[in-house]
Amino acid sequence: MRSFSTEALRRTVRNSIVKWFNTNGRNFPWRSTTDPYHVLIAEMLLRRTTATAVSRIYLNFMTRFEQPEWLAKTNINTIASMICSLGLQNVRARHLQKAALSIIEEYDGSIPQAFDKLTTLPGVGKYVASAVLNFAYHIPMPLVDGNTIHLMFRVFGLTFNGPNDPRAWDFMESFDLGNQNRAFYWGVIDLVAMICLRKSPRCTDCPLQEVCMWNLESAV
Ligand code: SF4
Repeated sequence: MRSFSTEALRRTVRNSIVKWFNTNGRNFPWRSTTDPYHVLIAEMLLRRTTATAVSRIYLNFMTRFEQPEWLAKTNINTIASMICSLGLQNVRARHLQKAALSIIEEYDGSIPQAFDKLTTLPGVGKYVASAVLNFAYHIPMPLVDGNTIHLMFRVFGLTFNGPNDPRAWDFMESFDLGNQNRAFYWGVIDLVAMICLRKSPRCTDCPLQEVCMWNLESAV
């Protein structure tokens, strides 16, 4: 039985995830850059696939398309062939190239630093826009995807109607992340990938085991 107020619980969860990530988080090349273009491309590649799959092609891809101009002028089939291991390569390649064109033509080659402008780029939805603001521009913004929904269900017992549920975005906004936003969201991603597995969560290795509703209820 846990005895935290909701706010204290959120604070404990936030601090535990950040602390765990700082020791156990995975290293990926897109996590060691704050170049907004590189972060944007990484987040577009990461949609609907795994970080491990993207890590196999990311450095080659960024070497080939280091500037949006290079992506914009390359044959679409060449782009698709470089990302075919991720799946959805034709749609993904089209979005990448159109986004590069839009960055050049509408934003003078720079990645916008505003949510509303980012979401005008082809293939960029709420999640990718928010990820760019968090990970490249260090602006704490709520970030919701299947990982977030899964972990919030396990820890808080909250049920949302998928990643587009406005209540999920409001809930994440209430975490008051400040400059811990990057470690927190990467921590959520890595906890779900490594510890809070969907079929067999490894609760005894989890930094949230003492406050997690799923774990406390299964111990009763
Ligand atoms: S304690 Fe178990 S169920 Fe809860 S977040 Fe950790 S791994 Fe998931």
